[in-house]
Amino acid sequence: MLDECTEKAPDIRKIIHVDMDAFFAAVEQRDHAELRGQPVIVGGDPTGRGVVATCSYEARSFGIHSAMTASRARLLCPQAIFVRPRMAAYREASQDVMGILHSYTRLVEPLSLDEAFLDVTAATADGTLAIQIAKEIRARIEQETGLTASAGVSYNKSLAKLASDWRKPNGLVVIPPKRGLAFLAPLHVSKLHGVGPATVARLSKMGIHTVLDLRNTSQETLARQFGKAGLWFYEVARGIDLRPVQPHRERKSVGYERTFEENLRDRTIMMASLQEMAAQVSRRLHELGLAGRTVSIKVRFRDFQTVTRSHTAPQPIWRCEDISACLPELLARAVPTGLSGYPSVRLLGVTVSSFAATEVNCSDTGQLSLLDEVIYDQPGQTS
Ligand SMILES: [Mg+2]
Repeated sequence: MLDECTEKAPDIRKIIHVDMDAFFAAVEQRDHAELRGQPVIVGGDPTGRGVVATCSYEARSFGIHSAMTASRARLLCPQAIFVRPRMAAYREASQDVMGILHSYTRLVEPLSLDEAFLDVTAATADGTLAIQIAKEIRARIEQETGLTASAGVSYNKSLAKLASDWRKPNGLVVIPPKRGLAFLAPLHVSKLHGVGPATVARLSKMGIHTVLDLRNTSQETLARQFGKAGLWFYEVARGIDLRPVQPHRERKSVGYERTFEENLRDRTIMMASLQEMAAQVSRRLHELGLAGRTVSIKVRFRDFQTVTRSHTAPQPIWRCEDISACLPELLARAVPTGLSGYPSVRLLGVTVSSFAATEVNCSDTGQLSLLDEVIYDQPGQTS
């Protein structure tokens, strides 16, 4: 196949997205021969409140997917084999994969244990094709770790990620610049980075379902409806995504925030929204292997006055229940009760910062209790 990326101007980037196939389940099938060819579900207890973390492709054919409750998965496929997660094994396999990626460029940005972007623009300066690098990476991962990966090659992060997803598992897809717009056009908007369920619902009300619909919507309309995010939608619908691949990004915080369609006055609703964001933050912290001591909330009022209130815990935390426990007091401090005429709230946010220097201790027990939590989509990450 021709690597048409290289036919274009030299300032066009070559981005590869590598995504391991059914990672946790694949490690289990690699390490336990009796699990190969079987519907394997890695996750929580199917008799309790556990959820599916990852399942093998054999299990997926029964309609099972990540974040589904384990009890529902067992209903769909009673013969499925449930396995408790072994985070240490997954972490080790992840290090092997990341080591292979780093032998091609230092511009490697891991998104989680099983996924990373690489910017191989420099590595292709001598005429090597990006697709050759992607092929070699996939072959080496299989040979050196016994696991398979899918890869996508394109000129930006959004398209590289869509490409890696296109022929999973064990696939390789290239989207050259001249095919970018045609590739995007028929996709559902939910495929785009930053478009979560709430945004999908709002776009749908506007009659916007596909990326082509989005492309046919004016920049003014999108900016008016979605603010800064609208400008991002406008660009990404046109295949424009200038986000760089950021290696070893040193994170200072993990947070989510949400602007409400209608300003909030009801504290119960504010609290529910904060709890939801705490679950998202917890999940992201877990993916990144981080824990922090400071929990902050941000409140923006109707008049755009913005306050943040923080609580510093004695120990680094990452579990949803620990973050949530801080929220009532923080909300009470940010939005005092008994103040009549207090302006309504247009935005809320939850952030965890002050990360511990050491890696979060993610023993198997810790992992299990995380897997009992609801896993949300993650639109509009703020950091
Ligand atoms: Mg994956």
